[in-house]
Amino acid sequence: MPDTMPTLFVSHGAPTLVMDSVPTRDFLRGLGNELPRPKAVIAVSAHWDTPDTRLSSGTQPHTMYDFYGFPDALYEMTYAAPGAPELAHKAAQLLEAAGLPAQLDEKRGFDHGAWVPLSLMYPQADIPVVQLSISSRKSPAHHVALGRALAPLREEGVLVMASGNATHNLREVFSHDMLEAPVPYAKAFADWLTGRIEANDEAALLDYLAQGPNGPRNHPTADHYVPLLAAFGAGGGAGKILHDGYTYGVLSMAAYAWGL
Ligand code: ZN
Repeated sequence: MPDTMPTLFVSHGAPTLVMDSVPTRDFLRGLGNELPRPKAVIAVSAHWDTPDTRLSSGTQPHTMYDFYGFPDALYEMTYAAPGAPELAHKAAQLLEAAGLPAQLDEKRGFDHGAWVPLSLMYPQADIPVVQLSISSRKSPAHHVALGRALAPLREEGVLVMASGNATHNLREVFSHDMLEAPVPYAKAFADWLTGRIEANDEAALLDYLAQGPNGPRNHPTADHYVPLLAAFGAGGGAGKILHDGYTYGVLSMAAYAWGL
């Protein structure tokens, strides 16, 4: 029997995280070895945002360069992990049974929300990966439900890895230096988030815009927050913080785990 896998939420920051000399890159480089080795990964990325729910089901997803204006070296990187069509089918069945129908998408590649952290965690690219889309216009509760529906896969050695950002005001990134100390408004939200995760406070996590300090300023859009709710739903119960860092002062790079 494989180990029951934990679930994860990681903050991926800028696409250049993979090459920037920052503590979060080093944390992610060590993280793969800290966890039981998964048989497969379901990656829930902020950068696959669809009106309906989708699962990538190709056998060899391509690497997507879904960003603009970054150094050439970034566009030369590839992440050649295989897909897992059977797992995609199984996940679709679990979602369907939970009243959350999902479409399979054979053509979908790996976006940088998935491949940047995965290439640090599993540089051998030898663990199959399925991506699951978010629907940022749907409710926070929808994303908890997605995670809950997939929780049984943890018993089969599947790692649910959600990738977003604990705080994510992109417009404010550009007025700060990469290694700058956290700004108070972002730190207040990230600290609140850690507390609510540790307290298994689902109601507060769902109501983050109102209850989280400076909620709308830290998450002007829901896309980088709701992946966390999928990890929470799949994890069930209280989680814990694994990493607490910042880039550009305004991006909390916090990572959390459930069941670890
Ligand atoms: Zn992002």
